[in-house]
Amino acid sequence: MKFHSTKSPESFVNAPEAVLRSLPADNGLYMPESIPVLPQEFWDSIHDLSFEEIGYQIAAPFFSEDIPEVDLRRIVSETLSFDAPVETIAERDHVLELFHGPTLAFKDFGARFMARVMAYFTRGSQQPLTVLVATSGDTGGAVADAFHRVEGTRVIILYPSGKVSGLQEKQLTTLGDNISAIEIDGSFDDCQRLVKAAFLDREMMTSLNLTSANSINIARLIPQSFYYVHAARQLLKGQKPVFVIPSGNFGNLTAGLLATRMGLPVEKFVAATNINDVVPEYLKTGIYTPRPSEPTISNAMDVGAPSNFARMDALFGSRWEEMKLLIEGYRYSDDETRDAIRQIKKKTGYTMDPHGAVGWLAAEAYRHEHPDAHTVVLETAHPSKFIDVMEQELGQGTISIPERLACLADREKVALQMLPDEAVFKEYLRKIS
Ligand SMILES: *Cc1c(COP(=O)(O)O)cnc(C)c1O
Repeated sequence: MKFHSTKSPESFVNAPEAVLRSLPADNGLYMPESIPVLPQEFWDSIHDLSFEEIGYQIAAPFFSEDIPEVDLRRIVSETLSFDAPVETIAERDHVLELFHGPTLAFKDFGARFMARVMAYFTRGSQQPLTVLVATSGDTGGAVADAFHRVEGTRVIILYPSGKVSGLQEKQLTTLGDNISAIEIDGSFDDCQRLVKAAFLDREMMTSLNLTSANSINIARLIPQSFYYVHAARQLLKGQKPVFVIPSGNFGNLTAGLLATRMGLPVEKFVAATNINDVVPEYLKTGIYTPRPSEPTISNAMDVGAPSNFARMDALFGSRWEEMKLLIEGYRYSDDETRDAIRQIKKKTGYTMDPHGAVGWLAAEAYRHEHPDAHTVVLETAHPSKFIDVMEQELGQGTISIPERLACLADREKVALQMLPDEAVFKEYLRKIS
């Protein structure tokens, strides 16, 4: 399968280039040249297939020209080392739990797959693939974990000293092996500036085999389609899902669109946002107006210019009327979200994080309009990641931190302290190359 930029539909690159470059030179986003429709026998049999088999069947048409079956099966299987169960919390009210991965959020699926595909595409090279990330907390942890012990790769994470939470810092600094953390005596912007300086240095780019493992990498998007199919197979036959997606950059929703284009029967997609509602606004008016983001309690969705909108737009050939037929948009304030966290607990006993709670509100609204609908809310993170908000609403001591995260507290932090100085950082990179 070839890929092209959303901005130049006529010029194609192969999968290794699309994955290793992350971003096309024209600043568009990579898209597959066509979306493969899987045979009807596959869709008829999903109830009998494993999560891994589903993942492989979806990934194969995109990557089989460039990755042999045994390797692709291994990559899928290592990616899906944890489940994505559907919980039915009330009548017609389903939740797809995407937080069972190592860093407790759905981004583990995309990051783990991308890491392994990147490693495959650089196999046999003299230099390990070096992934540079600047993080203000969460993304760095997911990327680092995804690449941990992946052969032929190493990760260097820069984070601002004293500006990430205690557990987040442990996630960045306790993995060891091929993961190094640099604690910058400065701000997140300083970290980003240093990373950028390295990327602008052509010689360093090649000598270190640098990549950014960007969040809009096409290899992060495709595996996110796997769990839409896996969710559908957990519903009863004949229950056509309405997927409700708490959204920020709209990667998750775009992956759902890919799954339907490949043949998954879906009743509707519901885009649920906080007050950063550029896409619901577009669905309502047909006018797309990106704007600066505003902070909320569902902060992973505080995005004012969603990067995947270009992909959504491309999938509908820029036809608003068609997008509107398949996607409905809803937006909620922080007060409504807080109220929802309490309501869900009271009505169903379920503990939903602030992002999922935005989704749940949209699902309620949708079911109100469509009394026969089966809504499936994507629960994008474990509630313990937002323990402050959760305990404000549900009470102290009501949220427990899963063992896989809690155990980090006792591990020793290993980080190199560094001033936010380009020359110092480059000297460090030269030494390790
Ligand atoms: C990243 C993230 C989102 C938003 O996902 P997009 O694919 O950017 O729309 C929602 N919830 C959580 C917890 C996230 O980490």
